[in-house]
Amino acid sequence: MTTFISSNLGYPRIGEKREWKKALEAYWRGDITESSLYDRTTELRLKNLKKQQDIGIDLIPVGDFSFYDQVLDTAVSFGAIPKRFQQEDPQSIDTYFAIARGNKGAVAAEMTKWFNTNYHYIVPELEDVTPQLVENRALHYYKEAKEKLGIDGKPVIIGPVTFVKLSKGYQPEELEGWVDKFVPLYKQVLQELAEAGASWVQFDEPILGTNLSNRELELVEKVYQSLKEAAPNVKLLLQTYFESVQNYKKIVELPVDGIGLDFIHGDSLNLIKKFGFPQDKVLAAGIVNGRNVWSADLEGALSLIKQIDLLTETDQIILQPSCSLLHVPVTKQTEEKLDTVILNGLSFADEKLTEIQTLLKAAKEGSEAIQAQLEENKSARNALESSTYRKNEEITRELLSIENKEIKRSIPFQERIAKQREKLNLPLLPTTTIGSLPQTAEVKGTRTKWRKGDISNEEYASFVEKETAKWIQIQEDLGLDVLVHGEFERTDMVEYFGEKLNGFAVTEFGWVQSYGSRCVKPPLVVGDVSWDEPITVKEIVDAQKLTDKPVKGMLTGPVTILNWSFVHEELPRYTVQNQIALSLEKEVLALEKAGVQIIQVDEPALREGLPLDRLRWPEYFDAAVKAFRLATSTVQPETQIHTHMCYSEFGEIYEAIDELDADVISIETSRSHGELVDTFEENNYEKEIGLGVYDIHSPRVPSIEEIKQNIERALQTIDAKQFWINPDCGLKTRQEEETVAALENMVNAAKEIREARLAQQK
Ligand code: GLN
Ligand code: ZN
Repeated sequence: MTTFISSNLGYPRIGEKREWKKALEAYWRGDITESSLYDRTTELRLKNLKKQQDIGIDLIPVGDFSFYDQVLDTAVSFGAIPKRFQQEDPQSIDTYFAIARGNKGAVAAEMTKWFNTNYHYIVPELEDVTPQLVENRALHYYKEAKEKLGIDGKPVIIGPVTFVKLSKGYQPEELEGWVDKFVPLYKQVLQELAEAGASWVQFDEPILGTNLSNRELELVEKVYQSLKEAAPNVKLLLQTYFESVQNYKKIVELPVDGIGLDFIHGDSLNLIKKFGFPQDKVLAAGIVNGRNVWSADLEGALSLIKQIDLLTETDQIILQPSCSLLHVPVTKQTEEKLDTVILNGLSFADEKLTEIQTLLKAAKEGSEAIQAQLEENKSARNALESSTYRKNEEITRELLSIENKEIKRSIPFQERIAKQREKLNLPLLPTTTIGSLPQTAEVKGTRTKWRKGDISNEEYASFVEKETAKWIQIQEDLGLDVLVHGEFERTDMVEYFGEKLNGFAVTEFGWVQSYGSRCVKPPLVVGDVSWDEPITVKEIVDAQKLTDKPVKGMLTGPVTILNWSFVHEELPRYTVQNQIALSLEKEVLALEKAGVQIIQVDEPALREGLPLDRLRWPEYFDAAVKAFRLATSTVQPETQIHTHMCYSEFGEIYEAIDELDADVISIETSRSHGELVDTFEENNYEKEIGLGVYDIHSPRVPSIEEIKQNIERALQTIDAKQFWINPDCGLKTRQEEETVAALENMVNAAKEIREARLAQQK
C-alpha cells in the first residue's frame, strides 16, 4: 500500500496586501530601521508558515523566504559576491541590497528571467569569488520554524548544478570546477541541517528540465552521490519543475531519496508509463498547477494520482503543487469585485494548498471522503464553462476563416520600406523612445485617486492629456524624430489591455512578485477574447494633433499579453493567442484609419515564453510568428510596423524575429551590447533596427561620448541606413530630470554622428 503525504515547494513572500514590498521600500527610503525591517518581515514569514500549518500541509518549506531573490540569497550565503562589492561587509543587508539595486559606487548585478517565468533573478557573478559558507540560511530558517511554531520544516535550497549554470563569469568548460568548489559548502549545510534534526531537504534543480549534455549529466550524478554520502541520515529530495526532465532514466536513478516531478507541464506521466519509477524512492508529484490561478479539476487530479500510483511501485507519494507558489497571488479571499462565476473558479496559493489537502484526503480514504468538494468543484467549473465568457461564436468563426490562410504583408520589406521612407521622410539615424515616459508620483497618485472614485473620469482624462501635452513639447524641444504619447494612462502594458478586451477579468489584489519589490498583477483570461471598440486611438490622436512629427501608436503584442496573463487551463493557449492577435489587428487598423503612420507592437515576453525543451521551440515560434503577423500584416505598405523586445538573447531567436516581419525592431541590449552586435556580423539582417544605446534601468545619465561609442560599435556591422537610435526600454520607472538629460545626450550623440556621416558622403 502506498502512503500519501502533502508538501509545498515554496510560498509567496509578498503577503496578502504586499506587506513585504512595503516593508522593503520603507527601509530603502530610510523610513524604518533595519531591526524594524526584520520585525515586520519575520511577522509575515511566521504568519505564512502558520497558514500552511493550519491548512495541514505535512512538509512545509522553509528558507523559501527572501529579502529580494532566492538566487541572490544562495550566492550571498556562499560568499559569491560580485567583485565590485567584495570590499563591503558580506554579512550586511545593505551589501545584499546593493548587489541587487546598485549603490553610489557600483552598478547592480544583472537581472534575468527565471526559466520561462516572469520572475527575475539576480545573476551571480563568479569571477574572483572564493566560495565560503557565510551563512547557513536554510539552518537559520529551519530552526526558526521549529522554535516558534513547532514545525519540522523542509529546507529548500537551489541545487549546485542549477546555481552554477545560472551564474556567469566563467567559461563553459569550467562548470565542473565551479560546481566542485560549491559542493563542500552544500555538504556542510546538509550536515548542519541533519544535526538540527531536519528529515527532508529539497534541492531545486529546474535545470534538469532543459537539454543538458552528457558531461553535465555526469556532473549531476557525481554531485548527488557526494551530497548523499555527506549526510546519509537526511532524506534528499531532488526537485524539478516547469517541464518534465529531459533524461528521465538517468535522473530517477540518482542516489537521492525522492524525486520531484511536474505532472502539469511536460510529459511526466508518459515517462512513468514508459520507464516506471524506482521502488526505493519517494515520488513527489506536482499535481496542482503552481503557475496558474485557476481551480484544479479535482476529479481529473484524482484520476492522475491513481494512474501515478498504479504505474509506480514506490511506497510513498508526496502530493504537491507543480512548483513554488511564488508565481501565484496569495489568496482570493480579499477579492470583492469579481463576478462570482469567475471568483468560484479561482485558486490562489492558499486555495491551492487546500486543494492539495483535499486530494490527499481522497488518496488516503477514497473519493467518497471528498464528495462534497468534488461536486462543488465540478459545478464551479461547469458554471464557467457554460458562462457567456465562452460563447463568442463570431471570434470562433473568424479564427476558422484564417486557418489555412497565408498571413503576410501585401508586399515584401524592401518595397514597403521605400514607400515608408518616402512618406515619413525621417533623417538618417532617426531618434525615438520605446514608449512609456516617467510615471511620477503625481501620475500614479492621480490614477489611484481616480480608481478610488475621488476624481471624475473627466478630471482624470484631462490630467492624462495635460501630461501628454507637456511631454510632446519636451520631445519636440529635445529634437526627437519620432515621438510617443507616453503611456500615462497605463499602469501596466498588459493589464491595460486586459481591462479593455472582452474575455479578460482583472483582480484587485492578485499581485505576483516580478523582481525585487516590484509586483505585477496579471489579468485573467476567462473566455474568448474579442475587441469591441478602439482602445488607444484617442490618446494617440490627441497627441498627434500637437505636433508635426509622427507619433507612434503603442500596443502590446499577442505573445506578451498571453504570457503575462493567467489563461484558463481549459482554453487552448495558442487559440487564445490568436484571438488576442485578431483583436489587436482591429486596433491596429483603427489606428491606421485615424492617420497613425507608425504602430509599435511590443513583444518583450517573446524570449521568456520559450519552452525549456528545445525540441518544442519550433512549435512555439510558429505560433508566435503567426499571432504577431495576424495582428500586424493587414496594414497598408506605407504604414510602418515596429516591435520592441527586452532581455533578448538575440542570437538564439534571430530567425523568429526576422520572421515577424516587423519593419523596425528595437532591442534592449545596452548591458550586452557587444554580443548582440556580433549576431549581426554572422547574419545579414535586412530590416531596420534600433539597439538600445543606453541602459534605462539605472538612474545614471550616460554621456554623449559613451552613447556615441555604442552607436559607432553598432555601425561597424549594421548599415547606418537601417539604424535607429533609442534607449533600451521604456522610461516609465525613471525620474523626469534624468530622462530629459539622458535623452538630450542621446539626441546630440545621434546628431554628431549623423552630421559626420553626411559630411563624409559629400
Ligand atoms: N512600450 C513599453 C514601455 O515603454 C515597453 C515596455 C517593455 O518593453 N517592457 O514601457
Ligand atoms: Zn523593453
